[in-house]
Amino acid sequence: MNVGIVGAGVCGLAAAKVLQERGHRVTIFEGRHEVGGQVVTFPVGGTPLECFYHHLFTSDTTVVRYIRELGLERYLRWIEPRNAHLVRGRIYPFVTPLDLLRFTAVPLTSRIRLGLVALYLRRQKNWRKYEGVTAKEWMMRAVGRKAYEAFWGPLLRGKFADHADDVSMAWLWGKIYLRFASRKGSREALGYLEGSFRRYYQALADLIVERGGTIHLSTPVERVVVENGQVRGIRAAGRLWEFDQVLMTTPNIITRKIAPDLPADYAAILDRVRYQWATCLVLALDRPLTNIYWLSIADDLKFVACIEHTNFMRPEDYGGNHIVYLSNYVPPDHPVLRMGAEEVLELYLPGIRTINPSFERSWIRDLWFFTDPGGQPIITTNYSRSIPDIRTGIQGLYLANTTQIYPEDRGQNYSLLLGERAAAIIDEDARAVAARRGASI
Ligand SMILES: Cc1cc2nc3c(=O)[nH]c(=O)nc-3n(C[C@H](O)[C@H](O)[C@H](O)COP(=O)(O)OP(=O)(O)OC[C@H]3O[C@@H](n4cnc5c(N)ncnc54)[C@H](O)[C@@H]3O)c2cc1C
Repeated sequence: MNVGIVGAGVCGLAAAKVLQERGHRVTIFEGRHEVGGQVVTFPVGGTPLECFYHHLFTSDTTVVRYIRELGLERYLRWIEPRNAHLVRGRIYPFVTPLDLLRFTAVPLTSRIRLGLVALYLRRQKNWRKYEGVTAKEWMMRAVGRKAYEAFWGPLLRGKFADHADDVSMAWLWGKIYLRFASRKGSREALGYLEGSFRRYYQALADLIVERGGTIHLSTPVERVVVENGQVRGIRAAGRLWEFDQVLMTTPNIITRKIAPDLPADYAAILDRVRYQWATCLVLALDRPLTNIYWLSIADDLKFVACIEHTNFMRPEDYGGNHIVYLSNYVPPDHPVLRMGAEEVLELYLPGIRTINPSFERSWIRDLWFFTDPGGQPIITTNYSRSIPDIRTGIQGLYLANTTQIYPEDRGQNYSLLLGERAAAIIDEDARAVAARRGASI
C-alpha cells in the first residue's frame, strides 16, 4: 500500500523502515528542514549537538539495536557520569548509595527512608497499583514531608510546574524503576553516540530513501484529508497527495489542527492530555561551569536542571567549548516562550551564579534557546484511560506519539518501539483490506 507519514521524528522513521520491510511504499512529510524531531541537532564547533540534552539508559535496548543495525556501534559510549542535587544553595553529589547518606539537607531518618523506598520501588514490577494515586500523596506517605520537600517535590514541580501535585505515582515509579535498571552495581551508566544521535537517525532516513521512500523536508502538513469516514490523503505544499493509509506522529495539539475530522470521542481523548513545553538555554563556555554532568535543582531557580554535556563527552569534540544545557518545562502561556536567548540568560544569571558563584558573563562564547511544544505530556492519575488508540476510528488513519508511551517516560527507545508497533498495525489492516479485495498489498 501507499502510506503517508506526518513527521520525521524517530517514531515516524522507525514506522517507515518497518513498513518498507513489509512491502509498503512510504512518503514522509516533515515540517522542519531536517529529520530527527525532538532529537534535532545544531552544530557547535563543527560537531552536531542535540538542541535538547539526550542520553541513553542501559535499558534503552531498542536504540542500541538501531545503532548496531546501522553499523554505528563504534560511536556508542557508555559513561558513569557525576550526578548531583542542588538543595538550599549547596551541591550534593548523587552517584553512589553512600551519597544518599551524606545528603545532609534532610535528617538521617529521612535519608534512610529515601533509600529504602527507592530500593522497594526498584523491585516493584506491577505499576498498575500506582495508577490511581498521585506521586505526591504516595511519596509523602513513604518518605515523609521533609524528604519529599527536599527531593521528590522539587523534581516533580520542575517538570510539571502547577500540575506537579496531579502527577501519577505510576510515572514516578517508571522513572525510578528504569533508572535503577541502568545501574551497574552501585553506579549508573549512561550512553551517548559520539557525534550526536543524529548519526543513527540520519542513517535511518538515508536508508529509507535508498529503499525507494521519499522524505519531503520543510513541508508542513496542512491537513489530513478524510472522505466518507476513510482517509484520502495529505494536503501539503499546496496540493493533495493521495494515500491508502496515513500515520500521524505529531503531538495531540498539532494532530487536532491537521486532522479536524477525527471522531468526537477520539478527539476528546486527545484534548484530555496536556503538555509542558520543553525549553533549553544552551551555553558554549570557554571553561567548565561545574565538574557535574547532571545537576538536579531543588531550589527555586528559573531552571530545573543544569546538564554539562562536556562532563560526559570531551570539550575538544566541540571546538574546545564547554557545553551547558539549562533546562525547564513550562506551560504553553509562559512568558519565557516569547523571549530570545539573551533575555533568557538575563533571567537565569542569578541561578547560574548559585551553581558557580565565580561565573562571569565573559565565559560565554555563544548561546542558543530552543523550545518544543510537545516536550512532556502531563501524566495524571489513571492515565491509561487518556491514551488514544493507534487506530483513530477513521479507516486508514493512525496516530503514534509520546502520549501513548506509558508507564515509561517518553524517550527515543519507546518512540522507536511505538513506530514499529504502529507499522505492524497499519500492515495488518492493509493485509485485511487487500484480502477482502482479493489483491496483494
Ligand atoms: C527536553 C527533552 C529531553 C529529552 N531527553 C531525552 C533523553 O535524554 N533520552 C531519550 O532517549 N529521549 C529523550 N527525549 C525524548 C525523545 O526526544 C522523544 O521521545 C522522541 O524524540 C519523540 O519522537 P517522536 O518521533 O515520537 O516525536 P517528535 O520528535 O516530536 O516528532 C514529531 C515530528 O513531527 C513534525 N511535525 C510537527 N507538525 C508537523 C506538520 N504539521 N507537518 C509535518 N511534520 C510535522 C515535527 O517537526 C517532528 O519532527 C527528550 C525530549 C525532550 C523534549
